[in-house]
Amino acid sequence: MTFESIIGHERQKNILRRALTNQRIAHAYLFEGPDGIGKRLVALAMARALLCTNGTGCGDCTQCRKVDHNNHPDVHLLDADGASIKIDQVRGLQKDLALKPLEGLHRVCLIDGAEQFNPAAANALLKTLEEPQPHTLIILLSSRPESLLVTIRSRCQRLPFQRLPKQRLAEVLANRLELGEVEANVLAALSDGSFKKALGQNRELYLERRRELIRSLSALSSGSIIPLFKLAEELAGDKEILPDILEIFQAFYRDLLLLIHGRPQTDLVNQDLQETLHRQVAQETTESLLRKLRALETGRYHLQRNVNRQLAMETMLLRMNAA
Ligand SMILES: [Zn+2]
Repeated sequence: MTFESIIGHERQKNILRRALTNQRIAHAYLFEGPDGIGKRLVALAMARALLCTNGTGCGDCTQCRKVDHNNHPDVHLLDADGASIKIDQVRGLQKDLALKPLEGLHRVCLIDGAEQFNPAAANALLKTLEEPQPHTLIILLSSRPESLLVTIRSRCQRLPFQRLPKQRLAEVLANRLELGEVEANVLAALSDGSFKKALGQNRELYLERRRELIRSLSALSSGSIIPLFKLAEELAGDKEILPDILEIFQAFYRDLLLLIHGRPQTDLVNQDLQETLHRQVAQETTESLLRKLRALETGRYHLQRNVNRQLAMETMLLRMNAA
């Protein structure tokens, strides 16, 4: 992984490149921004550039290869063990950091999901940040930096990362996945600038399954109660991706609102479902769509509170149906 091979994040990469060239690397960085947009890749590229024998992150030397294979003894990766990062993990890290680097001149420590420190672990880490070791670089990655201790944040050089612009993501996806323009646009819009989502299991969900789900949803308005319960059961069975499915429904209703208000096709997410959209929009008003969106929001709220999933989905669909 090199800075060059990572798409986007030009400003952030330039800051890090300059720090490397001028040998003015901070002791600790905090990479902040949404999950799945490439913060970890940039951190690994930084590690490689720092540890590379040729000082460039060449990709050919033993050091670079070890970083790429996740087996460099001077690169430490820390992330949540269960629900949180625990004090034993930080103590283990501190032990390693107290020693000289094993292979090169530097140690690099990557802490992913840094908002997950439990309080004791956070205080232990603070000690490490307050007494920086020479030749040690710590990079914290977080999608919720506001949850970190202020004292931790203030010890780090903060580097905000943004989602890739939708258009840019669509171009890259079209290229990499050999998708047509419309499909690439759909995938980019639903992935919300996250490569991880677009390239992972959500790809199938966003492209093929989305069409089925929206068809089932739009068939409900005219249908009997049986299909509604069947759809609720299907949704309840998809625990892992249910939040993403509800986002798909939200995008569908949002598309209908945009259509009612005469926005151009290019603003829509479901550009490949023109027929379904136009059939549905004829039956809707702004008010009915807002009621549906509210029902969706309530459904989402209930799911986050671990209520009976099936019941929550039935209630949500019934309310949408009546809207
Ligand atoms: Zn190298």
